[in-house]
Amino acid sequence: MKILILGGTREGRDLAELLVAGGHDVITSLAGRVTRPAHIAGEVRVGGFGGAEGLAAWLLDNGIERVVDATHPFAEKISANAVTACQRTGISLLRIARPSWESHPLAGTWTWVDSHDAAAAVAAQYRKVLLTVGRQQLDHYRSLQSAAARMVELPENPLPDSWQPLLERGPFTVESEKKLLRDLGAEALVTKDSGGSLTAAKLTAADELGIRVIVVRRAEVPEDVPQVSAPEDAARQLGIAAHQTSG
Ligand code: NAP
Repeated sequence: MKILILGGTREGRDLAELLVAGGHDVITSLAGRVTRPAHIAGEVRVGGFGGAEGLAAWLLDNGIERVVDATHPFAEKISANAVTACQRTGISLLRIARPSWESHPLAGTWTWVDSHDAAAAVAAQYRKVLLTVGRQQLDHYRSLQSAAARMVELPENPLPDSWQPLLERGPFTVESEKKLLRDLGAEALVTKDSGGSLTAAKLTAADELGIRVIVVRRAEVPEDVPQVSAPEDAARQLGIAAHQTSG
């Protein structure tokens, strides 16, 4: 089967590896935000498609038989475009959705907000804040006097002089997260509801240190897209589908 993975995540990379090992013809698509992305099995293409219409045309031009949306839960535009493009072309779409942290055992102890602006307003009550919201969202937090911002690469807009940039790529351990929060003297941690276990160590660390956690909620996802929570489940579904179509 010729499969397009909309990637940019660990799940996308893991799925590419599983599908290539299973003999599928896999193309992973990246937005091109990061200058040195991690190695991905199979073919890789980089850059936007030009909206849902561009994606639909690209799917047909490239003979794609299945699309897996393995993008980050907060990459909402590309996920919406995938839904539209797959509806238009009749190509089936599967989504890998990291389980939300709403069901995390500590979720009830956090401050949940609907937007980054709301998160910034809550964070302003604390003297030192660790921001783990990704570099594209940092503009919402510029009014904070003292913040450390963790990200993979620096954003285009220079950060406020009083901020501390931390250029790091996870995964992190609870111990390393505790050390970081302690070294920074952080009183609050801001995160998106990225979900899953890959970036969850900071939540345990903040809890153990008594640090306030502020979480930006996810937007609603289209309900009619079949979803799985892990690359292994996606590979299984695709395997079953391939068997059924060929048999
Ligand atoms: P977005 O707001 O949903 O997408 C904006 C535009 O970027 C899309 O309309 C599309 O352009 C292009 N694009 C996004 N993902 C693409 C992909 N995988 N392949 C080709 N084009 C893509 O996305 P975003 O939040 O900027 O995230 C960009 C990428 O970074 C995603 O692939 C995502 O998986 C990854 N990522 C995002 C986050 C996050 O917090 N948002 C965190 C970790 C990783 P066209 O309309 O021109 O096709």
